[in-house]
Amino acid sequence: MKILVINTGSSSLKYQLIDMTNESVLAKGLCERIGIDNSFLKHTKVGSDAVVIEKNLPNHTVAIKEVIKALVDPKIGVISDMSEIGAIGHRIVHGGEKFHSSVIIDDAVIKAIEECIQLAPLHNPPNLVGIEACKAVMPKTPMVGVFDTAFHQTMPRRAYLYALPYEIYEKYGVRKYGFHGTSHNYVAHRAADMLNRPIEELKLITCHLGNGGSVCAVEYGKSIDTSMGFTPLAGLVMGTRSGTIDPAVATFLMGKEGMSVRDMENFLNKKSGLLGISGVSSDFRDLEEAADEGNDRAKLAIEMFCYKVKKYIGEYAAIMNGVDAVVFTAGVGENSSLARKTILEGMDYLGISIDPEKNKERGREIDISAEGAKVRTLVIPTNEELAIARETLKLIKR
Ligand code: ADP
Repeated sequence: MKILVINTGSSSLKYQLIDMTNESVLAKGLCERIGIDNSFLKHTKVGSDAVVIEKNLPNHTVAIKEVIKALVDPKIGVISDMSEIGAIGHRIVHGGEKFHSSVIIDDAVIKAIEECIQLAPLHNPPNLVGIEACKAVMPKTPMVGVFDTAFHQTMPRRAYLYALPYEIYEKYGVRKYGFHGTSHNYVAHRAADMLNRPIEELKLITCHLGNGGSVCAVEYGKSIDTSMGFTPLAGLVMGTRSGTIDPAVATFLMGKEGMSVRDMENFLNKKSGLLGISGVSSDFRDLEEAADEGNDRAKLAIEMFCYKVKKYIGEYAAIMNGVDAVVFTAGVGENSSLARKTILEGMDYLGISIDPEKNKERGREIDISAEGAKVRTLVIPTNEELAIARETLKLIKR
């Protein structure tokens, strides 16, 4: 069966068509600037060069129609008819407390996702638009929703509650939800495969370090704590996000600088993190380059980033009474030897130590642990699209 995986943003739509008989990607691409001027579709038939199609994309339904057109095109397409798409898997950012796992999308599910909008006002609306657009173009094709938050629904109350008046949780659902769940879940299972041990007996710490980043304590296959919170702003120092800070800083600065709530949200989400500290870039590669050239603030940004990850590893080893393996994934985690080395330096007391030669590898699955290290350190490229496609297949086969 061929499964179309869809990830919609407010003005974008990413897709992959995956043949599940051998889990190979047939085609992938993205639509950008939907609803804005100069919109376009960039489509890649795997094995061929990417093609950019400039096209007016006033909304997501038109974008989906263009995606289908590209997929069935005799030249750049990979299928002869839309009916070859057996199912659609949608990435959905926020499932609140309503979704503990992936679900077949029906009207009740759409309503429940709508009810989660107040928790993810920027993300869930475009996800819903993506669902409606697919429904309009392919009304008979089954659809599955895969939630970023679902994997973390196993966290115990002591981990997910904030020490605020309890009624605030009851009234507004203010609590830690966590994100990147599909990725943490995927790499945790790959880690168990690589270690050749059942996940049910492993204590894992998975570090998803991309533009956004989070660390997760995966005990016996279940998320028991994670660094992101009520929103994806919490936890690590990220590309442009501050991560966790003393909340009083926000109110202090709002007073001093006359910033509105919206200004402050923008400041913490878009102007902070690696970009804010370095003044150079939010991109880790740029920072490594600038640090090499002697830029002190770029160096500081890298140090702060790694320091925070190290602290979470220590924290999660503490709550699990040990750890069997630390896993690195996403852009920085998969590729930056410098980040991995800096994060894990001086953790030999925990049994973590890496082989400097193996640590030079990047972008592929590898065990980079030093000979005899008690705790394994693994690099595992994440594959959220494949994880979504697998979930989709599993559900529609039931
Ligand atoms: P997103 O969260 O947008 O999906 P990615 O997982 O693609 O992000 O990660 C993007 C980050 O990975 C960027 O900061 C980028 O600089 C970093 N990155 C990618 N390749 C390398 C590399 N070879 N060395 C260091 N950092 C890298």
